[in-house]
Amino acid sequence: MENLEQNNEQENSNSNGEQPAVQTEGSGERQRSARAEEYFKNRKQKFTGPRRPREERGNGENPAQAPGAQHPSDGQHGWHTNIKNAIEANKRIQQNRLNTDIKLNHNSKATVRITPLGGLEEIGGNITVIETQNSAILVDVGMSFPDDDMHGVDILIPDFTYLRSIKHKIAGIVITHAHEDHIGAVPYLFREMQFPLYGTPLPLGMIGNKFDEHKMLEYKRFFRAVEKRRVIKIGDFEVEWMHMTHSVIDASSLAITCEAGTIIHTGDFKIDHTPIDGYPADLHRLAHYGEKGVLCLLSDSTNSMRPGATLSESSVGPTFDTIFSRSKGRVIMSTFSSNIHRVYQAIDKGVKYNRKVAIIGRSMERNLEVAMNLGYIKLPFGIFIDAAEVAKYPDNEVLIITTGSQGETMSALYRMAVNEHRHIKLKPSDTVILSSSAIPGNEGSVSTVLNYILKAGANVAYKDFSDIHVSGHGAQEEQKLMLRLVKPKFFLPIHGEYQHVSKHKETAISCGVDERNILLMEDGDQIEISSRSMRKIKTVKSGKVYIDNQRNNQIEEDVVMDRQELAENGIVIIVAFVDKQNKTLLEKPKVSSFGLVSDRDDRHFSEEMENVLVSFLQNANKEVVENKRMLENEIRQVLKKHIFRALKKYPVIVPTIFVQ
Ligand SMILES: [Zn+2]
Ligand SMILES: [Zn+2]
Repeated sequence: MENLEQNNEQENSNSNGEQPAVQTEGSGERQRSARAEEYFKNRKQKFTGPRRPREERGNGENPAQAPGAQHPSDGQHGWHTNIKNAIEANKRIQQNRLNTDIKLNHNSKATVRITPLGGLEEIGGNITVIETQNSAILVDVGMSFPDDDMHGVDILIPDFTYLRSIKHKIAGIVITHAHEDHIGAVPYLFREMQFPLYGTPLPLGMIGNKFDEHKMLEYKRFFRAVEKRRVIKIGDFEVEWMHMTHSVIDASSLAITCEAGTIIHTGDFKIDHTPIDGYPADLHRLAHYGEKGVLCLLSDSTNSMRPGATLSESSVGPTFDTIFSRSKGRVIMSTFSSNIHRVYQAIDKGVKYNRKVAIIGRSMERNLEVAMNLGYIKLPFGIFIDAAEVAKYPDNEVLIITTGSQGETMSALYRMAVNEHRHIKLKPSDTVILSSSAIPGNEGSVSTVLNYILKAGANVAYKDFSDIHVSGHGAQEEQKLMLRLVKPKFFLPIHGEYQHVSKHKETAISCGVDERNILLMEDGDQIEISSRSMRKIKTVKSGKVYIDNQRNNQIEEDVVMDRQELAENGIVIIVAFVDKQNKTLLEKPKVSSFGLVSDRDDRHFSEEMENVLVSFLQNANKEVVENKRMLENEIRQVLKKHIFRALKKYPVIVPTIFVQ
């Protein structure tokens, strides 16, 4: 592995170091005075002698000191006697340092293709294919949540159609971090096809839990636990995990190198200089790749709209401290179950104020258990109590940590708020901390649970404290830092809706990325990149597959569409007996409708339908009346037109006609 790295270093230094003067002189847009031209000509001649190793020469712009040099003014010493020469030389060094292009290997015609199958036009469901001619890797396999009109759908997973077509060349899956929108769909993929699964310990631990739930523990044999800062060969790719700060511990950015060059995939990130575990983002490795030359950067766009920088996770601690110190009764803290550091900070304050800790909510318990088992956090076991024991302790000695900060109706917090929890009922002396912000789309349910908590008389600490929650995603200044460290030639903003990626594009342009080298992708776009160009070459099938958690099964799209139609337009069922000889109704038709007219108007509506039927039959031709299928079809059309005229709705119409 180490050797691979060194070879790359060598390759870059060749393309970079051999002809520095020629490459700079060749670019016509740079204007120089005649004197400077003269200087560079002289300087180039000096380089025609025997070449020294690169380390001795420095980067070629700033030659190492050579005590016996005869022309001190030429910069060989690192200094000049002529200040103007120094100005020119420095200018050139600045330009070269910012020029990624000269660091890329233009001798190779190799290309690499990048295809997001989820994660764009949405926040969630992240999965990206990176492939060469012969092999492919997947970066993350995440899930997302359904819209309100997807009735009976619990989660969405990416459409795997494209993966089926390239299955033979997939060498592995690489995981950036343990959030559901990056690992949630792994079990569903593995049901159908399995590949080696590379990740750091926490993401693998969380995926292991999923395999457990799905009764597919045997697939743990595909786990490959990686070390950060260590390059691993997967198919045609060399991949390095670089530590990143985010709202879940053990997150990573990836450096993915193939013949075409290096791709940096940030994963989800913020740049937290004072993280709880003392492991800040590995900016040094990012800078290392930036210096070597990065072909393309794929970067998290979630907070593109936010100026400034996201606050450190550790800024939440003092806010918790203030709230805990003031609380006379129980403290109930709710956050995302995966935000282990947030949970840890609450427990830390709980212990400080002499409270026992009850963790309530299955996902919260499991995640904390995994983090403790893997040694990511250390807590004395004696502080924990069960939900059933809470009543045994005085209120001011209890801290409850629970799920439900998004207002999920199945969550412990929701059940406590509506008095449906077996052990805990909210009371006026309680302080409830909602340490989160509503994920777009969840605002309604968060507001519902907030109302219930207030109705129960409890105190709520939510957005009124500015540092009660901090985001896990970097704002503009952190996105800029990433762009400046990595200095990519090409840029693909990811992890966001169109508004987020397009704002991220603006930020990238302001940080020196050429506008022509930025593409705003949609799911299914296949982008081909070489050292010279980046372009979209085709669109592959993408989309969502609907999953019903109760049955742990896929729901077909037409079923979901039918449900949508029923919910929006209602249904009309008609049973009628037709005399084909006389083209009349043999008896009053039976009309039932649901979700269309009120019960009060039911009779009137039935009569209307009957009238429509009678006049239709009178005018219908014999051929139609004698063919049951044709007759039902025509009746459906006639009723549809009539109902739309009267009610502006297109209900589902189910005619059952008996012809005699
Ligand atoms: Zn995340
Ligand atoms: Zn994410």
